[in-house]
Amino acid sequence: MEDTRLISSFATSVEASPTMAMATLAKEMRAAGKDVLSFAVGEPDFPTPANICEAAQKAIADGHTKYTPASGTPELKKAIAQAAERDLGLNYDPAQVVVSNGGKHALMNAWRTLLEPGDEVIILAPYWVSYPAQVQMAGGIPKIIQTFGHNGFQPDLEQIRAAIGPKTAAILINSPSNPSGGVLTRQSIEGIAAIAQARDLAVVSDEIYKHILFDGREHISPAQLSDDMKQRTIIVDGVAKTYAMTGWRIGWLIAPPAFAKCAGNIQSQETSNPCSVSQMAAVEALGGPQQSVGEMRAAFEQRRDYIVPALNDIPGVVCPNPGGAFYVFPDISQHVGRVMGDAEVKSSKDFCIYLLQSALVSTVHGSASGSEGCFRISFACGMEQIQEGVRRIAAALK
Ligand code: PLP
Repeated sequence: MEDTRLISSFATSVEASPTMAMATLAKEMRAAGKDVLSFAVGEPDFPTPANICEAAQKAIADGHTKYTPASGTPELKKAIAQAAERDLGLNYDPAQVVVSNGGKHALMNAWRTLLEPGDEVIILAPYWVSYPAQVQMAGGIPKIIQTFGHNGFQPDLEQIRAAIGPKTAAILINSPSNPSGGVLTRQSIEGIAAIAQARDLAVVSDEIYKHILFDGREHISPAQLSDDMKQRTIIVDGVAKTYAMTGWRIGWLIAPPAFAKCAGNIQSQETSNPCSVSQMAAVEALGGPQQSVGEMRAAFEQRRDYIVPALNDIPGVVCPNPGGAFYVFPDISQHVGRVMGDAEVKSSKDFCIYLLQSALVSTVHGSASGSEGCFRISFACGMEQIQEGVRRIAAALK
């Protein structure tokens, strides 16, 4: 039987995440004995803090190994609402929280709840690789607005206004951003909020990096701006990046009550609850000591302070200084068009493949994030690896 008889046209239209694809390529090379350094995946190198692991062990010992309510345990929803009060000064009822299998799943629930077929979502590029694919999987249409490193990846509000039409349902923001590390200024967030209010749009605010901010910056959520903005903002967050808990798969959305109820219904049909043990661990992460959050943040800032000038010292590399998260997104357009190794580098993807093959350094091409001529380096790995990686990139670009 032909494969096409088994596979829908929808399934064939979905591509694997390019980050995962680059990471898999690097893993295969490593399995073949090559000393590949991975800068492709956005995963903190720190272990999950001990108090969180102990809470999970206790959860197992105490028998918390059964189904929980589909949209999360009352304890975790309460801890998330309390964290929103502590971190954002916002008061939410725990019923406004839907706990999912990671922030990625929470985003998917948000799109499924929000979008009618053909609805449009404004997405700022460079964007996290999964945003357009997720919007499309939920029947929506991504509308991309470019931003650039020279002004810290702030959007041109006029371009956003011009892109909005009768089918626009939402503006998606992600500050600090993956892949750029850009942090939206108060002015940008207020400008986006004003547009959302004037055109009656939702704002989906992916705040998964909100605790990783540099140079004393403070996080601003659009939901903090006014009561009206709180009513039209869907906050997406999770424990993965803040608490080095990528594998535990706990994320959530916070939304107006009716929205949260529908998102919870969708999840109850699709996956039921996220892992019961992970939920107990997340209660400890959010409500327990927060010291490790500050320590990891400080380590990321130290790494940023090393990697940005080191990359800018390489001819033809222009690296903006990220205000948060753990990524740099250098412009390498001066290298596109060069012959490197045996072949012409025609794109950021060719550039990253060249780096992988000749420097044994794995990164992600900017075109995967809608920004050709750039590439992403995750500096969530240790300082020694960063130093060696930069040395190899510099040597490969000589
Ligand atoms: N949002 C952004 C911008 C991310 O970078 C990621 C992970 O890389 C996520 C959401 C999803 O995080 P998770 O599903 O691991 O909680």
